[in-house]
Amino acid sequence: MNQGQLLKVTEKYGSPVYVYDAEKIASQYKRLTDAFKAIKTLKVNYAVKALSNISILKYLKTLGAGIDTVSIQEVNLGLAAGFLAEQIIFTPNGVSLSEIEEASKLGIQINIDNLSVLEQFGTKHPNTPVCIRINPHVMAGGNSNISVGHIDSKFGISIHQIPHLLRIVENTKMNINGIHMHTGSDILDIDVFLHASEILFNTAKQFKDLEFIDFGSGFKVPYKAGDIETNIEELGEKLSAKFNAFCKEYGKDLTLAFEPGKFLVSESGSFLTKVNAVKQTTSTVFAQVDSGFNHLVRPMFYGSHHDIDNISNPKGRERFYSVVGYICETDTFGSNRRITEINEGDILRFKNAGAYCFSMASNYNSRFRPAEVLWLNNEAHLIRKRETFDDIIKNQVEVDFSTKKAKALVK
Ligand SMILES: *Cc1c(COP(=O)(O)O)cnc(C)c1O
Repeated sequence: MNQGQLLKVTEKYGSPVYVYDAEKIASQYKRLTDAFKAIKTLKVNYAVKALSNISILKYLKTLGAGIDTVSIQEVNLGLAAGFLAEQIIFTPNGVSLSEIEEASKLGIQINIDNLSVLEQFGTKHPNTPVCIRINPHVMAGGNSNISVGHIDSKFGISIHQIPHLLRIVENTKMNINGIHMHTGSDILDIDVFLHASEILFNTAKQFKDLEFIDFGSGFKVPYKAGDIETNIEELGEKLSAKFNAFCKEYGKDLTLAFEPGKFLVSESGSFLTKVNAVKQTTSTVFAQVDSGFNHLVRPMFYGSHHDIDNISNPKGRERFYSVVGYICETDTFGSNRRITEINEGDILRFKNAGAYCFSMASNYNSRFRPAEVLWLNNEAHLIRKRETFDDIIKNQVEVDFSTKKAKALVK
């Protein structure tokens, strides 16, 4: 999408607004499937939590994706988007047994990451095939918020607990049909990933009725110029060779599954905000936009970098700015950024705003969550209306303080 097209979207739908370029989602999907073309059966299950708009889910369905879900609500959203039960995997963490049973009853493949739950589920439903989530304890990336394979992680069943896991499977006679890992959100080093895959293959050998191996995700996409990204093509080549060799040894062609979120949607997204004020202090020039961490929390939550440019004045002379929001708390999107000269009323674009941006938005400061637009075939399609005051108030229950009884309570 070019700057003119983005500006037109803000003219039509106002700001702030999220815009997703469908073409970019499709090209990322194709890149991934092309990289693994040596695999007989590849399953790409899009991680719904990255961006869960129903039109995005429907679009990914047209591309051939299944979905990875982490809550029963995401499962229901996927079903509402038209996915069949067999195109959905449920990979929750820390949910109740009853939530797992609810998904399983719908015919969804479940993935269990806790021995206590595995034992309970296997005892009650020995005939339901179950996938197990293994923690190979491989550190991927450096940020402990988004690295989920390390020793203190709450995710997965530790490889050191395999003897206990095997005992549960034997005692309950349950059927393990899949084995899974999701090591974290940033695979910077393919060798680290391949090392984890070796651990998974070794574990897989102990289960005789596998149908698939799921390598999760963690593909890193570039957030700024010169950023390291996962070399999908190299990973595809190397992992496919290892996987095909494993299938030979195992004596069966298994399905290779992935569940990428960020890789598929991050770069498709732009978040467009309007500059309310340019404020010069003793040391800084602030550009204050009509948003805050209520709409895009990643920079404040994870220290994530989002490139910001001024699409209203792309050719202006560059100056240094700190781009901040309108929330009554520190909400710095970017400090000391070199951006073409900003005037009040300009539209700033945040790049890489497809994954974990809208889906983490809130109503903090009683602000409306933004509209979302899908850019498809050179046309803008509104896929979520901007909220209204009714969304802020609709679930709130007012106490009537005018009654005698309430008046007595207040005293
Ligand atoms: C969040 C999540 C993903 C997606 O991770 P990305 O880094 O967005 O690709 C995949 N699998 C599981 C189990 C997850 O929780």
